[in-house]
Amino acid sequence: MSQQLKVQEKLEAIRSRIRLAEIQAGRPANSVTLIGASKKQTSDLIALFNEAGLRHCGENYLQEAIEKQAALNSHDIEWHFIGQIQSNKTKLIAEHFTWVHGIDRLKIASRLASQSAKPIKLLIQINPDEETSKGGVPLSEGAELADQIAQLDNVEIRGFMTIPQAEKNPDRQKSTFAKVHELLVQTNQRYSLDLNQLSMGMSGDLEAAVSEGATMVRIGTDLFGARK
Ligand SMILES: *Cc1c(COP(=O)(O)O)cnc(C)c1O
Repeated sequence: MSQQLKVQEKLEAIRSRIRLAEIQAGRPANSVTLIGASKKQTSDLIALFNEAGLRHCGENYLQEAIEKQAALNSHDIEWHFIGQIQSNKTKLIAEHFTWVHGIDRLKIASRLASQSAKPIKLLIQINPDEETSKGGVPLSEGAELADQIAQLDNVEIRGFMTIPQAEKNPDRQKSTFAKVHELLVQTNQRYSLDLNQLSMGMSGDLEAAVSEGATMVRIGTDLFGARK
């Protein structure tokens, strides 16, 4: 089988998993955007996936991302920064990405706002299990941070992203995602906002995330294969 055919099959397989999860949750088709989590994957492979129809890619490491973006210059890809953000890197992030998923303090959002040429789309990272190894704010701090960011010019606060603790049990996966969804609802009510994006779900918990309202899933391994 040609590599292009294999790539098409892998993309189709993930799209089917998403579609099935949408149906099981009673959600309309195409309510979930697939982001290819392409860290440590080559630009040649990303090019094949893009030619097969993948439009959104998420990258974690700035230098690696900038090099791959240059190589993929002629491709129509919308880039999401999904890694941890160092405050001295915000200018480059603002220049190279349309979406930033890992916002966990006001200072980062305001630097992005002042350094970006166009309104940049932001998601606050929630750390629902309060793991010290991960970025993000506790569930209890998400709403207030969203309200503070909403008052900045030149950024659009759009919702929340989360990376829960590794968990194989689908009911426990769902219960964490449901809490982040509930946070979105509560934040909108409390501050009269209209946040509408939930970036949640990876290879091992895609179905649970779609069941609990994910609007973006970030899939690496099950889409591209194992990372180098
Ligand atoms: C690597 C990564 C993913 C994808 O993880 P897989 O388990 O390989 O699907 C999703 N989100 C973030 C933030 C990542 O760093």
